[in-house]
Amino acid sequence: MLDKFKSLLERLSKNSPFYQEKFAQCGVDIDKVRTMEDIKHLPFTTKEELRDAYPLGLQAVSDEDVVRIHSSSGTTGKPVIIPYTAKDVDMWAEMMCRCMRTAGITKKDRVQITPGYGLWTAGIGFQAGVERLGAMAVPMGPGNTEKQLQMMMDLKSTVLIGTSSYGLVIAEEVSKRGLRDKIHLRKGIFGSERWGEKMRRRIELELGIETYDIYGLTEIYGPGIAIDCHFHEGMHYWDDHLYFEIIDPDTGEVLPEGEFGELVITTLTKEGAPLLRYRTRDLTRLIPGRCSCGSPHKRLDRIIGRTDDMVKVKGVNIYPGQIDGLLRSIDGVSSEYQVLISHVDGKDVMTLRIEMDGQRHRSSVERMVADHFKKHIGLSVNVEAVRLGALPRSEKKTKRIFDYRDVS
Ligand code: ZN
Repeated sequence: MLDKFKSLLERLSKNSPFYQEKFAQCGVDIDKVRTMEDIKHLPFTTKEELRDAYPLGLQAVSDEDVVRIHSSSGTTGKPVIIPYTAKDVDMWAEMMCRCMRTAGITKKDRVQITPGYGLWTAGIGFQAGVERLGAMAVPMGPGNTEKQLQMMMDLKSTVLIGTSSYGLVIAEEVSKRGLRDKIHLRKGIFGSERWGEKMRRRIELELGIETYDIYGLTEIYGPGIAIDCHFHEGMHYWDDHLYFEIIDPDTGEVLPEGEFGELVITTLTKEGAPLLRYRTRDLTRLIPGRCSCGSPHKRLDRIIGRTDDMVKVKGVNIYPGQIDGLLRSIDGVSSEYQVLISHVDGKDVMTLRIEMDGQRHRSSVERMVADHFKKHIGLSVNVEAVRLGALPRSEKKTKRIFDYRDVS
C-alpha cells in the first residue's frame, strides 16, 4: 500500500500540472511522507477544483496515452472531464468484474444493463465488467420499459442492473401486468442513489430477487468501486487500488474507523487523472472488522446522505440518514420526521418531531425515541410525537431540517 502511495505522489509531482501547482501552493514535500498515516498532512482535492480544471486540466499522462474520457453530468456549472488510459479502462473492468463475482453473478448469467451509455460512466462500466466475467450483457440503456420487459422475457435475463428508482418502475410493471411467472430474474444490482430499505424490500419482493448496493463516482473510475456481498453487512471496496478515509466534513480531521463522516478517496494506481484525497461529499463510515463472507477487502457502510445535508448541534454532527436509520429501528413510529434547531439562552436546542401510531402513550414514545437518540447519536433532544400522517409528505425530497439559529 505505502509503495503504491509513494509512487502515486511521485507521479503527481512529476506529471500532473494540477498537483504540481497545488503542492507548490500548499508547500507539500513528498519526501516527508513516510507512512500511510502521513496522508493526513496532504491537501484535499475538491469538486470545485475539478470543475475549474475543465476540460483536461487533470490529465497526468501524455496525450497519446489517453484512450477515452468520461464526464460527470454537471447539473450546476461546468462538468468534470476525466481522461482514462488503457490501463485505467482495464483496471475499472477488473474492479467491476470483482463486483459481479461478489454479487454471485456467473458466466451463465444474462445481465440486462439499464443505465445510460455515453459520456456518463455507468452503462459502459457495467458492460465491461459483465464481459470480463464472461456473462452475457444485454446492453439496453435507459427507458422504454415496454421493450425492457419484452427483452427480459424473451432473453430470460437473470440479472437487472439500474438505478433503484428504475428497478421500482420495472417491479411495479411486472406486478401490474402479472408477468412474475414469465421473468427469470434472480439478482439485481442497484446504485447511485440513496435508497430506503422499504424500496429495496419492495423491489425484492415484487421481482423475487436478491439485491446488491453498488457504489462509485465518475471522478474515481465510475460505478464498481464497492459492492455488498451475500451477507449484506456493508459494501466491500477495492482497497488494493483505492485508499478510503472518513473525515469530519467541518474540520477536515480524519475520524476513527466506525464513525460517520465524509468519504475521502485517494486513487493508488489510476493513471489518466489520479486523485489525492478527493472529497466525495458522501456521508458514510468504514465498518470495522471482517465480513462474515471472509473477504479480505474492507467495508464501507451504505451512503446515508450528502455533506450538504449535515447540521452541527452542540458540537455533534447530525445527518438525516442517521435519523432515518434510527427511526427504522423503533417500533410504533413512522419514517417521517422533522428537526427544528434553535438557539436559546446561549445553547443549541434540538427538537425532533416524529409520528406515532397511537397504540401507546405519547410520553413513553417520546421518552423512548429520546433515549435511542442519546444512545446512538450522542445528543439530548426534545422529542415531540404527533399522530400518524400529521407531518408533511411530498413526492420530491421533503425538507426535514429547519435550522433557526442564524435567524435573529
Ligand atoms: Zn462480505
